[in-house]
Amino acid sequence: MAVPHVVIVGAGFAGYGTARRLERTLRPGEAAISLVAPSGYTLYQPLLPEVASGTLDPRSIAGPLHRLLDRTRLVPGTAAGVDLRERAVTVDKIDGERTTLRYDRLVLCPGSVTRTFDIPGLKEYGHGMKNLAEAVYLRDHVIAQLELAAATHDPRERAARMGFIVVGGGYSGVETAANLQLLTAKALRRFAWLDPAMLSWTLLDVAPRLLPELGERLGDVAMRTLRRRGVDVRLGVSIDRLAADSATLTDGRTLPCRTAIWTAGVKPAPVVATLDAPTEKGRLVVGADLRLAGFPEVIALGDAAAVPDLAKGGGSVCPPTAQHATRQARVAAANVAAGLRGHQPRLYRHRDLGMVVDLGGTQAVARPLGMSLTGPLAQAVTRGYHLSTVPGFRAKARVLGDWGLHAVAGDDLIRLGFLDPRTGAAVDLDHTVATPV
Ligand SMILES: Cc1cc2nc3c(=O)[nH]c(=O)nc-3n(C[C@H](O)[C@H](O)[C@H](O)COP(=O)(O)OP(=O)(O)OC[C@H]3O[C@@H](n4cnc5c(N)ncnc54)[C@H](O)[C@@H]3O)c2cc1C
Repeated sequence: MAVPHVVIVGAGFAGYGTARRLERTLRPGEAAISLVAPSGYTLYQPLLPEVASGTLDPRSIAGPLHRLLDRTRLVPGTAAGVDLRERAVTVDKIDGERTTLRYDRLVLCPGSVTRTFDIPGLKEYGHGMKNLAEAVYLRDHVIAQLELAAATHDPRERAARMGFIVVGGGYSGVETAANLQLLTAKALRRFAWLDPAMLSWTLLDVAPRLLPELGERLGDVAMRTLRRRGVDVRLGVSIDRLAADSATLTDGRTLPCRTAIWTAGVKPAPVVATLDAPTEKGRLVVGADLRLAGFPEVIALGDAAAVPDLAKGGGSVCPPTAQHATRQARVAAANVAAGLRGHQPRLYRHRDLGMVVDLGGTQAVARPLGMSLTGPLAQAVTRGYHLSTVPGFRAKARVLGDWGLHAVAGDDLIRLGFLDPRTGAAVDLDHTVATPV
């Protein structure tokens, strides 16, 4: 009898987590596991802002799949479509070849991409912060702006190059603004002829407060910390249109700016739309057992799935966070094994461990297990949390080493030369397709 084939799509928190758990849960020979992933690593996205700010080396947050997984077959490519009735996934491999994988069990976790709106100029001039290439590119871009500001005699150009805007007051926007603002403020000490008063950072959100998931008090602490450093936090405001050297806000103001970073929301990866299945805000509708209605052999989780939040109740669904994706992966693996063995599936019920937000340097806000922490203590908890959850011993060692090195040696401010517009435009964020090799 043929060994059942389990196909996993996506190697983020949900996909990698499911594969790793399945390797431990299933006996060798009980099933063959394939993992479709465009890159050979699982990315620890919450530390992307630290890569952009140069605190961490990009490789430190990219866990190598061939090292982390033992008996999962890696398929380097992108799932282009899923045929639920045929039980088949079409995969575009990284060399451009198209292939079909037949499955007995499918685990869908392609995550999300940046959600952009129809804002004039956003796709041409906006920058994203959702993958490694974007974080590395952004660092190059920001350092280049300071170099070019120092090189010009035109005061208008200098103002635009020293004007930075981040849109999105959630954890990703706040951490990005906080870490990159620190990078530029420190860098100015090495560009003695640039007037620090011209450095301008603006953080925008249409919502009335920052970090709503952390509650009013910690959101206010984050706002005060950023404002003290000179970040102009503007709530109830977004970008109306972007040009090459300016941004017009919805309150009518126009700011000189050559760097607008868009972190305002995510939407499920495009492959989700190829399934003939119900969605909620684009996320696949699944039960609390993560299974797709009518297709019990298909499980979806993470950012791409609308999983009922049983802890909250009232029809609410789990927010797109790493914490949910990681914990859902355990249930996904258990339910794949249960399905293969003819057992009853488990339900996903989340116990909130809280949230940590790095504000750069020694500052953070955190709410572990309901306790509100700020300042260096929160930063210690934040770093401890990341260190414990970044996958693999080597990654932990690298992250710890990078933090130590950065604390002692500071930033080299080296631009690596990634100013290729293809990897920088926000439009890139709408696709997680691999470049043919
Ligand atoms: C800057 C930033 C900071 C964050 N900070 C936090 C935080 O502090 N706490 C927190 O809980 N969450 C945080 N998040 C959110 C968290 O990273 C996501 O919720 C989490 O990554 C979702 O996990 P996932 O496995 O569903 O998706 P992902 O981790 O995005 O993984 C999906 C994977 O699937 C791949 N993929 C996409 N399409 C396909 C396809 N068609 N075929 C094959 N593979 C595909 C992608 O390339 C990706 O590797 C942050 C996110 C960002 C961007």
